[in-house]
Amino acid sequence: MLPYCDGCSVFCPPLADSVSRQTIPYLDHNATTPCDPAVVEAMAPYWSEVFANPSQRGHRPGLAAAAVVDQARQTVADALGVAPSQVIFTSGATEANNLAIKGLCEQRLGQGRHLITVATEHGAVLEPCRYLERLGFALTVLPVRRDGRLELAALAAALRPDTVLVSVMAANNEIGVLQDVEAIAALCRERGIAYHCDAAQACGHVPLDPMGWGVDLLSLSGHKFYGPKGVGALVVCPGLALAPQLHGGGQEGGYRSGSLSPPLVVGLAKALTLALQDQRSRGRRLQALREELWHGLNGLKLPPGVELLRNGCPTHSLPHTLNVTVGGVDGGRLHGRLRRRVALSSGSSCSSASGKPSHVLRALGRSSTETAASLRFGLGRGTTATDVDQAVAAVQEALALASHR
Ligand SMILES: *Cc1c(COP(=O)(O)O)cnc(C)c1O
Repeated sequence: MLPYCDGCSVFCPPLADSVSRQTIPYLDHNATTPCDPAVVEAMAPYWSEVFANPSQRGHRPGLAAAAVVDQARQTVADALGVAPSQVIFTSGATEANNLAIKGLCEQRLGQGRHLITVATEHGAVLEPCRYLERLGFALTVLPVRRDGRLELAALAAALRPDTVLVSVMAANNEIGVLQDVEAIAALCRERGIAYHCDAAQACGHVPLDPMGWGVDLLSLSGHKFYGPKGVGALVVCPGLALAPQLHGGGQEGGYRSGSLSPPLVVGLAKALTLALQDQRSRGRRLQALREELWHGLNGLKLPPGVELLRNGCPTHSLPHTLNVTVGGVDGGRLHGRLRRRVALSSGSSCSSASGKPSHVLRALGRSSTETAASLRFGLGRGTTATDVDQAVAAVQEALALASHR
């Protein structure tokens, strides 16, 4: 239950609007997930009871806060099969990606100035890479196949003697496509090239073994697996040096200055533990629901000239994600109708803010018109068969209206 503001005079964000939105199915779990109530509960004591600064080890309250952070770090490390010293807490995956990419390239300035990424990466990878390109780095942005998968041979062919970094995500936020992280890591390791993997969408949803696979840098974000927003981590392979991107008090081994938030790191650790506990069963349940959704959409009466096209590889995919292009309708009208009945995304939550067509769907070969008429369904822990039925009904209604020009 959401707390209502009962007319207090101090700052309270208005809730009425967001409360009314709760009554429609929420199928946008790739944009963010609700914080699990057990996570909220685990965080509760660390706002105002155990509140000291964890980097203040000079008194008992500080030591108590530090102990809580150490425990959270150990939990996150155990969950990922790494040592606690390999976990750098950050404000999320955006910051983790920036630290990994800029920090690695700055550190290896003398070794080479070429980096490689992929056209379907999140903006939090593409933009740091483009920033480095403006500073004089050579950047290769590899295309993907029509199913969204990276051709390994294309990556192998793009590697150069001066390549210092390869950044390829584990799971795509828009289409759910999984890349072959283990094979990419092996290819990079063979040549001594650092490999960064943005695992923000994969962590807590599909098995990850960064050390076993030989991933050098791995980013994750709490709010993508039922944890709080504003916290994430960068996992760094032992012995790999990075140039810090936030300078100051020297927290996080000097890699990321700034006071840590004990409630946020506790929330991250708790959410990750819970997500790994039900990862398999949740994945199986949501995959079945997703296929039901796709089946339901395929059973719709389509107006003449309208067709449904599934985006991304259906076999190498997050279990809970479905991305569909509705060919032959106006995307603006389609989403205008759908918005009232179901919360989903028009491709990328980021692209809808800027109004630009999704670069991911464009990279799969979809036109701008097709891209605008695309639907991203992100199912989650709370999604029911009723939600799926309601979504199918909402699409049917929207289609009937959107196709009448
Ligand atoms: C959400 C997301 C990010 C950004 O994560 P924040 O924690 O919100 O900064 C980066 N990469 C991918 C793939 C994501 O899905």
